[in-house]
Amino acid sequence: MKETGHTIILFYKYTDITDPVRSKNEQRLLCEQLNLTGRVIVAKEGINATLEGTTENTEKYLKVFLADPRFANTHIKRSVGTGQSFPKLSVKARKEIVSLHLENDINPSEVTGTHLKPAELKKWYEEGKEFYVIDMRNDYEFNVGRFKDSVLMPVQNFRDIPSALAHIAHLKDKTVVPVCTGGVRCEKASGLLVREGFKDVYQLDGGIVTYMEQFPASEFEGSLYVFDKRILMHFDPADKHTVIGICEKCQEKSERYVNCKNPRCNKHFLCCENCSESDGRSFCSTECRDKILTLI
Ligand SMILES: [Zn+2]
Ligand SMILES: [Zn+2]
Repeated sequence: MKETGHTIILFYKYTDITDPVRSKNEQRLLCEQLNLTGRVIVAKEGINATLEGTTENTEKYLKVFLADPRFANTHIKRSVGTGQSFPKLSVKARKEIVSLHLENDINPSEVTGTHLKPAELKKWYEEGKEFYVIDMRNDYEFNVGRFKDSVLMPVQNFRDIPSALAHIAHLKDKTVVPVCTGGVRCEKASGLLVREGFKDVYQLDGGIVTYMEQFPASEFEGSLYVFDKRILMHFDPADKHTVIGICEKCQEKSERYVNCKNPRCNKHFLCCENCSESDGRSFCSTECRDKILTLI
């Protein structure tokens, strides 16, 4: 890793947390003491976090975190920080760490897909095995980077996955590998597929970020969308980097995200500099522009 003195850590752990509010308070105190920024969500089902701090402090944090028997063996993903990837620290106790809005929620400790190591998936690609990578991320995430030939779920939000299953019903008897950024969403999404009768369900261990780290400039093409100020991550050298993002206005290659200038819409989409206005921003559609004009 290139040294900047700052590190971003990304991790999740499904485990029983009997008192999420108490855990939330402990987490907040620890993060504040170490000047960490980022997001932590604690629920009865576990913890999900992305944090940034000086490398010394993120390591101090992990020493305390991993000493807790509930969190031992958590897979920690580290990447180079900027020192300002997050505007602040947010620590919350919620009902779930990720939500599918199901009446009967999935407990990944009971039902989930088989964990597939990145090296095994790589081997599958090389052997030409028949399998289907199912991207469980939102459309604006896979628009800028995805596994080649992957099946994209037509959703703008993870909670819409259950209602979009018809899209992959033809794969029920096939080998399927759900993927997401770091793996936390696929613990549940793969469990949902098992529950829905899919026969051979895996999930990419450590998520796309781990695969890209181990096999840069490989089957994952483009950049990885991340939920912090970096917006995009890629591990391949600049001269090997392929851009697959496309400006929604002119269809030219672009990895530049904007939010629709209509605050009611706020759609997050790819729009190149040429197609943006002088302030660098843009409306997603003529409807959004016209609505604003009638408001004025
Ligand atoms: Zn454009
Ligand atoms: Zn819009």
